[in-house]
Amino acid sequence: MVSIQFCGGAGSVTGANYVIDNGKIRFVVDCGLIQGGREADELNYVPFAYDPKAIDFMIATHTHIDHIGRIPKLVKEGFRGEIYSTYPTEEFAEISLRDTVSIMEHDKTQVPLFNDEDVDQAVSQWRGREYHEIYEINENISFRFQDAGHILGSAITEIWVLDPEKGKRIKLVFSGDLGNVPSVLLRKYDYIAEADYVIVESCYGDRIHQKLAERKEILKQAIKDTIERKSVLLMPAFSIERTQDILYELNDIIENHSGNGLQRGRVGKIDVYLDSPLAIKATNIHSKYTQYYNQEAKQLAKTDDIFDFPFLTFTESREDSMRINSQPQPKMIMAGSGMSTGGRVLYHEERYLSNPKNILLFVGYQAPYTLGRRILEGESPVYIHNHPIENRIEVRRVEGYSAHADQEMLLDWLSKIRNSQNVFVVQGEQEASQALADAIKSNLHIQAQVPTENEIVILS
Ligand SMILES: [Zn+2]
Repeated sequence: MVSIQFCGGAGSVTGANYVIDNGKIRFVVDCGLIQGGREADELNYVPFAYDPKAIDFMIATHTHIDHIGRIPKLVKEGFRGEIYSTYPTEEFAEISLRDTVSIMEHDKTQVPLFNDEDVDQAVSQWRGREYHEIYEINENISFRFQDAGHILGSAITEIWVLDPEKGKRIKLVFSGDLGNVPSVLLRKYDYIAEADYVIVESCYGDRIHQKLAERKEILKQAIKDTIERKSVLLMPAFSIERTQDILYELNDIIENHSGNGLQRGRVGKIDVYLDSPLAIKATNIHSKYTQYYNQEAKQLAKTDDIFDFPFLTFTESREDSMRINSQPQPKMIMAGSGMSTGGRVLYHEERYLSNPKNILLFVGYQAPYTLGRRILEGESPVYIHNHPIENRIEVRRVEGYSAHADQEMLLDWLSKIRNSQNVFVVQGEQEASQALADAIKSNLHIQAQVPTENEIVILS
């Protein structure tokens, strides 16, 4: 018998966590943090639905914290198996988890979920693997990573699991998070030829994205308007991938098209600050793995520093970060976290949110109940560091930079998979997941369902 339990990510975007069991070996795919306000935070303290000591190994599809953020908790509670991921994911995981520890240690209202020693332990259990090669754990299980095109290192995971009673293998495919097409920097996701069961994400399961040209235009317009108003353009930054995508676009908008000298460029002069130690580290890691870029980015990277352009400043230290406030306007500030759930962006929002001349540009998904979502929906005042702040900033949104595939792309990817008996739709808000499940049934004529929290399904 082979079973899967949906311990997280069922009917919600965050907290991805799946347990597969064939009676002989039990393993976990992803172990993410549950995000979205105080109530969600508290759910991370609830014990796992299974015994971490009884898990033999785990697979991490990519390094977003809603996919790996509870791994140190798993380790803290006794998990000692190996953790498999691609090499970039392994490298990003350490900096992301340490960043999570420092955010938790800053939050005085709650005991940290785990500490640096738990991260050390998790890192010691981590094993990087290549894309496109089959790895055998033992006669029960083997797996292969394919390109997911979502963030650097992200993987679709094919897993072959033996049903010991029947003596045959079944194949599961986890989409992980699937990338938007075309990605600014990465290659398109790989197609999978066949599977018995598919576990597919649905973050944008009910949406169709803006196209590439539009997203760049919106970014450029926001910069132009900020220059004209001599104001502040604030961008809550997702440290890994989105920040590098934006730097790459800015490199093109600001550097390569600057006309007669930098002062009189196509958009004019603006100081840009990348105010996030994590994003700075992630940018450096990005520069190391150019082999995973798409053709265009790979080509450009040979002759240009694709993440650098005039008037860009990386502010790593706290002092440098604080100094941004006294710098002249216009200026653009990119700071974490991406949903304004913590980090330096809060200090900038506290300062700049009440001025309607400033622009806040959202470049990614904002989970319900996060500060980002409240600002996006126009709630005012909002509370930052326990102070009420008038939310009068001009809010703009550019969805085309989303690292997630939209409904069309998800259906395109699923349509190439033969023999699927059932598709489990996960990692979306309930409506988005249901909309995708309905579209799969009506357009592709494949069985699809949205599992419920902790539901166990017998696969074989
Ligand atoms: Zn992701």
